Amino acid sequence: MIELHASPPGPDAPAPHDWRWQLRHAARTVAELERLFELTDDERQGALAAERGGFPLAITPYYASLASPSDPACPIRRQVVPRALEATTVPGDLADPLGEEAHTVAPELIRRYPDRALLLVTDHCAVFCRFCTRSRTVGSGAGARSLERLEPALRWLREHPEVREVIVSGGDPLALATPRLLAVLERLREIPSVEVLRLATRAPVVLPMRVDDELVAGLRRLHPLWVMTHFNHPRELTPESVAACARLADAGLPVMNQTVLLRGINDDAAVLAELFRGLVRARVRPYYLLHADVVRGTGHLRTPLARGIELMRELQGRLSGLALPRLVCDTPGGYGKVPLGPEVVVQRGPGSTTLRTWRGVDVEVIDPPT
Ligand SMILES: *Cc1c(COP(=O)(O)O)cnc(C)c1O
Repeated sequence: MIELHASPPGPDAPAPHDWRWQLRHAARTVAELERLFELTDDERQGALAAERGGFPLAITPYYASLASPSDPACPIRRQVVPRALEATTVPGDLADPLGEEAHTVAPELIRRYPDRALLLVTDHCAVFCRFCTRSRTVGSGAGARSLERLEPALRWLREHPEVREVIVSGGDPLALATPRLLAVLERLREIPSVEVLRLATRAPVVLPMRVDDELVAGLRRLHPLWVMTHFNHPRELTPESVAACARLADAGLPVMNQTVLLRGINDDAAVLAELFRGLVRARVRPYYLLHADVVRGTGHLRTPLARGIELMRELQGRLSGLALPRLVCDTPGGYGKVPLGPEVVVQRGPGSTTLRTWRGVDVEVIDPPT
């Protein structure tokens, strides 16, 4: 079904360092999940629902090895093992939380901002995250988009030179075979007005061996290309994932990280501090801390909006500016991202503003005479 699953003939000896082996051995059924985890009834029900249709289940052996087989509260396990609660809809839930269908300007091309657009090159991923923004479409089976399918999007970009940046996403673009991914990126590079490319992928986190020499050698010819990855918990910073980030950084590719704030997974200042500091050591810049999108069936994984603001208040000033991402809420309906933070302007007067510093001391800043 998906090209990456096509396996070479021959005996299937364990080869955990080969990403193709990882994909062939990803857990996709309840039976396979049972071999990895002592499932709770809630998880078994969730996995059965995933197996019967809807948003599927996939966990690479590598990522499963980071999770606890016995503790259902494990922050790695919580991200990828389905739960019965996914069938529950809470007020505010939306199938398409970011109004992407309404902002689709060509097949697979979403444009919500004046100067950048999002191109979805596949609906497949190595691992399906249970909080996925695109669970309505991801894993539906269509897989990699052909160049013919993407042609109208490429034409639209040529006709709209005001779009200077294209974010290549999916699914996970690294679920495409390398030559196929490079072919898409090269077609984008041929459009003179597309100045910057961004590649959004969770492969460094869930399938770090995917970031191999062939891929990196191809990507480094496409500068300026920024890689956006998706670490959510310090336990994901393993020697393998850190080495994957190093291969990207060594090739001159700036690596940025987007963390999704998730209840019971990373909604804790000490956990986030450890994650963000670890990312900076790995030469990855924490870019956004995203308030979780209001995706249908993810209420059990989301925090109140105020929780993120509180966490930023705890981290601001205590953590290096390099390590501190911006807290952002991508607003329901597709109106765009809104930066959030603790209230810092406590008083505005004529010619003067009072700011609250991270220590809690209020300081007056005087404007120059007009
Ligand atoms: C998030 C997003 C972007 C990128 O936003 P930045 O704030 O530039 O990171 C662009 N287009 C769409 C449709 C998005 O959802």
